[in-house]
Amino acid sequence: MHCRKRVLVTGGAGFLGSHLCESLLAEGHEVLCVDNYYTGGKGNILHLMDNPRFELLRHDVTFPLYVEVDEIYSMACPASPIHYQHDPVQTTKTSVHGSINMLGLAKRIKAKILLASTSEVYGDPGVHPQTEDYWGNVNPIGPRACYDEGKRCAETLFFDYRRQHGLRIRVARIFNTYGPRMAVNDGRVVSNFIVQALRNEPITVYGDGSQTRSFCYVDDLVRGLRAFMDMEEDFPGPMNLGNPVESSILEIAERIVRLTGSTSRIELRPLPENDPTRRCPDIGLAKSRIGWEPGVLLEDGLKETIAYFRRALECRP
Ligand code: NAD
Ligand code: UDP
Ligand code: UDP
Repeated sequence: MHCRKRVLVTGGAGFLGSHLCESLLAEGHEVLCVDNYYTGGKGNILHLMDNPRFELLRHDVTFPLYVEVDEIYSMACPASPIHYQHDPVQTTKTSVHGSINMLGLAKRIKAKILLASTSEVYGDPGVHPQTEDYWGNVNPIGPRACYDEGKRCAETLFFDYRRQHGLRIRVARIFNTYGPRMAVNDGRVVSNFIVQALRNEPITVYGDGSQTRSFCYVDDLVRGLRAFMDMEEDFPGPMNLGNPVESSILEIAERIVRLTGSTSRIELRPLPENDPTRRCPDIGLAKSRIGWEPGVLLEDGLKETIAYFRRALECRP
């Protein structure tokens, strides 16, 4: 039986949030999108505005929010290192105060609540690939701490609200995800390299490019988040969601140059402090619990993303 739910998506005007809103609306649910437009924007959700089941509220989750919904996807938080380091105190507040407010809301209205946590909770990992039972290797006072420790504290709050107040929670640890609607100025690696390649500007590889990441296409990730939220059993996670195909950053740069037909050269730049050297999810838990695994090949996802940025740059060169 299909029942219509009222779903709150915080950070719904961002990259992942906007795809999530779209997916929920497509299945007939009502969506309340809450965002303060810190890194996201109305452009990502303009096409949803005409839908009578979609509602948009400008609001900062570090302040209390009183609404009535059945489910909450807590996605609000800048995710790109340049953005989350721009105002690090606000980043920590968004994860910590934002989570307290959303958990207080979930407690009052008895809603199920999912946290968009991150592979950054593993820091520069000592275990490879990363399994959910690994506790991580995070510098608590470095430039990435506002994001990493903010999310770790958010996870703590989610599990304590479950233990103390019996909340139904889902903690998803999302690994690097890419796709259409990343902002042109987002600064994360895939969007940066594609924008640089399309403009025939130098491709800025940090360090020697031997560090690795594993890239998941947005449609796969949203399908995983939804399956996790919807699972019958009250399973809190944490659950890794990401694509286990690992690539070096140099390989990504070369692949994007080839796929765009760009004349860009690769330029090596200093490696940012505390940049993790390897990252790859073990997705055994997601496979066994929710039958999820990514289906989109990197080559195909990159082609879609490149096509999106070609259009975006035509409108805003
Ligand atoms: P994004 O920057 O595109 O989206 C974040 C959204 O949250 C933006 O629309 C922003 O305006 C909004 N926001 C930020 N602070 C807010 C606040 N205080 N109140 C209300 N809204 C606020 O980033 P994204 O890639 O879509 O990431 C979404 C979520 O997923 C984040 O929580 C991020 O930590 C998590 N995540 C993403 C990835 C990834 O690879 N995309 C990986 C791990 C975790
Ligand atoms: N809160 C909210 N919306 C609600 C209920 C609570 O934003 O519908 C916020 C409120 O700011 C509160 C926080 O969530 O401080 C935590 O709520 P909780 O009930 O856990 O704690 P308390 O109210 O005792 O601080
Ligand atoms: N990176 C890079 N050039 C860029 C942007 C990022 O070489 O223009 C590297 C970055 O140093 C890191 C990897 O790409 O090793 C992924 O960076 P991103 O900011 O996308 O996400 P992270 O996984 O570090 O949060």
